[in-house]
Amino acid sequence: MLAEILQKLLPYHAKLIAISKTQSPDKVLGLYREGQRRFGENKVQELAEKYEQLPKDIEWHLVGHLQTNKVKYIAGFVHCVQSVDSLKLILELEKQAAKYQRDIRVLLQFKIAKETSKFGLDWEEAVTITRHVQSNKGSRVIIAGVMGMATLSLEESIIRSEFKLLKNYFDRLKAEYFVQDESFKDISMGMSDDFEIALQEGSTMVRIGTLLFGAR
Ligand SMILES: *Cc1c(COP(=O)(O)O)cnc(C)c1O
Repeated sequence: MLAEILQKLLPYHAKLIAISKTQSPDKVLGLYREGQRRFGENKVQELAEKYEQLPKDIEWHLVGHLQTNKVKYIAGFVHCVQSVDSLKLILELEKQAAKYQRDIRVLLQFKIAKETSKFGLDWEEAVTITRHVQSNKGSRVIIAGVMGMATLSLEESIIRSEFKLLKNYFDRLKAEYFVQDESFKDISMGMSDDFEIALQEGSTMVRIGTLLFGAR
């Protein structure tokens, strides 16, 4: 399945994050041996355990909600926190990145789905975070783009319009705050059921679990 998915990403130059939550380290290693190096988890403890057990050249992404008091458990190794949803979290990430003397990439998670349970920023909150990081000259947090999850819907038009909204947020942020900043480049959208729509709408990074590993 890995080869088929990579084939579909190729024309879009999009990256694959293999979402390995609930999967055994052995299964992760299986994909690793096929060449996959980017993996994502949604829970801090599981992420930290897999980091310990697996090869150190894996690029780890956190894609689930991150509590401020848990940043310290992943700050020493995480490549990218895709689920930044508050200024408070950014402040803690900056503190821990400084402590570990390393850069931590983040994506600003926007709320694009109708469902109220989903975490995520609105435009004003994203601007506040952006202004804060840009004014903090010592910050080792790198804002690398945006992330979003579409409504779990069978209606393609709903999903498509939510992805368009995320692309629009990205374009506005790029134009207003990141024109000169080449680090701000990723739009993380698309999962097993909707990644082809996401690619058509401008995704640069898809997060796929079920299609790669089977049902959880
Ligand atoms: C689980 C998860 C995915 C992958 O979902 P699949 O439908 O299994 O591909 C992607 N993004 C986030 C944030 C997730 O929690």
